[in-house]
Amino acid sequence: STAPTKAELNGSNFKITRTTSPRKVPEPGSAEELSHSHCTDHMVTVRWTAAQGWETPEVKPYENLSIPPTASCLHYATECFEGMKVYRGYDGKLRLFRPDCNGERLNTSAQRSSLPGFKFEELKKLVAKLLQIDGPRWLPKSRPGSFLYIRPTIIGSGPHLGVQIPKEALLFIIAVPWPDFTKLKQDQNDDSSAPAPKGLKLFASTPDAIRAWPGGFGWAKLGANYGPSLQAHGKAQAMGFDQILWLFGEDRQVTEAGASNFFVVWRNAQSNQLELVTAPLESQLILPGVTRRSVLELVRERFSTEKQQAEGSSLAPLQVVERPLTIHEIETASREERLVEAFVSGTAYFITPVAMIRNNDLDISTLGQGGKPAGYAAQIKSWLEAIMYGKEEHDWSYVI
Ligand code: PMP
Repeated sequence: STAPTKAELNGSNFKITRTTSPRKVPEPGSAEELSHSHCTDHMVTVRWTAAQGWETPEVKPYENLSIPPTASCLHYATECFEGMKVYRGYDGKLRLFRPDCNGERLNTSAQRSSLPGFKFEELKKLVAKLLQIDGPRWLPKSRPGSFLYIRPTIIGSGPHLGVQIPKEALLFIIAVPWPDFTKLKQDQNDDSSAPAPKGLKLFASTPDAIRAWPGGFGWAKLGANYGPSLQAHGKAQAMGFDQILWLFGEDRQVTEAGASNFFVVWRNAQSNQLELVTAPLESQLILPGVTRRSVLELVRERFSTEKQQAEGSSLAPLQVVERPLTIHEIETASREERLVEAFVSGTAYFITPVAMIRNNDLDISTLGQGGKPAGYAAQIKSWLEAIMYGKEEHDWSYVI
């Protein structure tokens, strides 16, 4: 007998039910927006069963999920997710940024957490359909330069309490207005006489809290990575820090910061070369960020030769280095005044300079000369923004 063919995920065929009671769109900067919980009018759901495969995707009014208390995700953390944004361009178009990177990562994360995989190109079609419906009201053309945060998620949803690979799963996609933290900080500065915050304050993790380890799953976007990290994050916030800088191993390697990847720009003590340094993917200690990859590709392409420097910027070119770096190297570079800048990258918090790191009792300044960022993060951010908001045509953009 032949095995029944199981359906692939298909992002081109939908069952669509439109809402009859549209939700209120929160004002930018309002308490509702800051709540991170006020989703758009619709959601995408796709059921999967081990016997049949993926069912027809649905677009339907946003509503609570109904799953059995025995559902696998509630007990065994069979859950993975993505974070991406849709951007309203200055030309009026809606764009996703490298959505196939998110599709590939979700597929990898799903397999790591015993959830069903799919053809990664289908994810962007599901996201696009949701935003074709909710985009016009929730990201009006009158607000170019704004965005919504999108959260594709897969959960083990079946009723089997036994410890086993889930036989049922649910993929869902929601979109939520998200405050623009870079703009909020800017506005707060304009309103007050307080000195401008020059960047994030990071608290280096201690050996009792390890986010990821070789052979583990820190390189996948699983909910199981986040819950256990929130206690350290909460303690750091209570002490006035913005994020945890996750260290690993005896040599205290610097891996990533909160939900973002971490970079330093320093002058190499031996070669005197200016380098952009970040942790490597091979050690499995960091999430392979879509923004991280884009930062590295842009710097390699636009910012690594003397000739390129002359073309657009007063900043000296950088050599990209992906290698393990330790907190002690950062501290030494800071002390020897070789440290030029540090910043983090990620979808939610974008490109943000880092002002200082507290490691045990030691405060390390990560601002370069003159006590302010040198401007590499700002340059990279403006390159990315030009692509995201359609000021520059680029094949990383997916117009929906
Ligand atoms: N590291 C972690 C742990 C994250 O959660 C994220 C956010 N997805 C990132 C890094 C940055 O990844 P990306 O640039 O794809 O948003």
